[in-house]
Amino acid sequence: MQRPRVAEDKDSLYKPTGKGWGELDLDSMSRPERAATLKAQRTSNLTYQGGPLMVNPNKVYMIWYGSAWDSASQNVLTNLASHIGGSPYFNINTTYYNASNTHVVNSVTYAGATSDSGSLGTKLSDANIQTIVTNAISSGKLPLDADAVYFVMTDKNTTATSGFCTQYCGWHTNVSYGGKDIKYAFVGNPETQCASACGANTPSPNGTPGADAMASIFSHELEEAVTDPDGNAWYSTRDGMENGDKCAWNFGTTATASNGAKYNQTIGGLHYLIQQNWVLAPTQACAQHYP
Ligand SMILES: [Zn+2]
Repeated sequence: MQRPRVAEDKDSLYKPTGKGWGELDLDSMSRPERAATLKAQRTSNLTYQGGPLMVNPNKVYMIWYGSAWDSASQNVLTNLASHIGGSPYFNINTTYYNASNTHVVNSVTYAGATSDSGSLGTKLSDANIQTIVTNAISSGKLPLDADAVYFVMTDKNTTATSGFCTQYCGWHTNVSYGGKDIKYAFVGNPETQCASACGANTPSPNGTPGADAMASIFSHELEEAVTDPDGNAWYSTRDGMENGDKCAWNFGTTATASNGAKYNQTIGGLHYLIQQNWVLAPTQACAQHYP
């Protein structure tokens, strides 16, 4: 397994890349890599760097990319997107605030979805992923919306060539498009490509290992997008970690579902195994919920 992007990359030493390291499953790392990751997660607090946060009620748009999606897997993820807003888990993000002391609100609306059966093939560059988003907007399939995060959810046969499975499981970034600051994210389906590196367990809480793994990656990228949408708000200046990175693969207390799968959240009536998130108050730490 290739070493995750870490401190030797000068560009990512002090600023987040959105492809934050620490997003690979700790179990897939060598012992030195795991030790370095855990030490960094423990020792660097997040500070506010002056940039914008997403402080309006948030929206999520899904772009189902690839021809291998099934409705059961999509339902696991749309149920999460529909109900994560208002949850004690997403409430952790309300501890984050901007220069006007305006806090993130515990509100996420699942505002729509579109499909792309594979217009740009199965090996996507970062530029391709941006094009998938802007195509969905320019074609009118999704609205132009600066209060949203557009998620490119790839199927199990699609990969991202800048490092899916070897450097990250997902990432988020932004682009100026149509006169607005458009936030978008890539979330890969690890089921057949890297179940160990990106956490696709069998059994999984909903019997959909790829989608159940993507639930945690989706949550990670969503919480980073709202607290650090442009890469200049909340992160650690020591290592570029954003809130999701601080608790990657840290699930806290888990329970066991009737099928034997581990889970730690019940959202919209379904069980999920979702990483914890970094709370700012009263002290900075990983948490499953706030307060
Ligand atoms: Zn991250």
